[in-house]
Amino acid sequence: MLKFHNYDIVFQEIPDETTLALNISGCPNHCPSCHSPHLQADEGTPLTTENLDLLLRQYEGLITCLCFMGGDAEPEMVNRFAAYIRSAYPTLKTGWYSGAEKISEAIDMSNFDYIKIGPYIESCGSLKSKTTNQRLYHILPSGKLDDITSRFWRT
Ligand code: SF4
Repeated sequence: MLKFHNYDIVFQEIPDETTLALNISGCPNHCPSCHSPHLQADEGTPLTTENLDLLLRQYEGLITCLCFMGGDAEPEMVNRFAAYIRSAYPTLKTGWYSGAEKISEAIDMSNFDYIKIGPYIESCGSLKSKTTNQRLYHILPSGKLDDITSRFWRT
């Protein structure tokens, strides 16, 4: 079961969106220079559609996007929850920050507007660095991936 450690309203993780970011615990990636080691422990609040509903009711009208930050231990569940958001909250954008090298085959692109991939490698830097190994993709209606990583370099 996926669990989330905490959540926050963020403005930079997804360009042009006001995003409710859910920080999911139980990260299996073990990046050597992990910036959020507390997210490696399998603890927190169970991620369920009921808990999503409670949060989204709380922030109704204030956010334009919901982003799952992590969840690589169970990408099929991330996909399932994104599909739920798509059907229950059709005006909300959906995003996923994965630390994996490539997008999991469990992911149905049509459930997402944005997907970030790539582990954190300190020497390459975060998305804000031009030398980053990470990529943020905008998923176009055609299913094509538009690499919008450079949007972070102008801010
Ligand atoms: S993806 Fe890497 S940096 Fe992010 S929480 Fe997991 S181990 Fe840490």
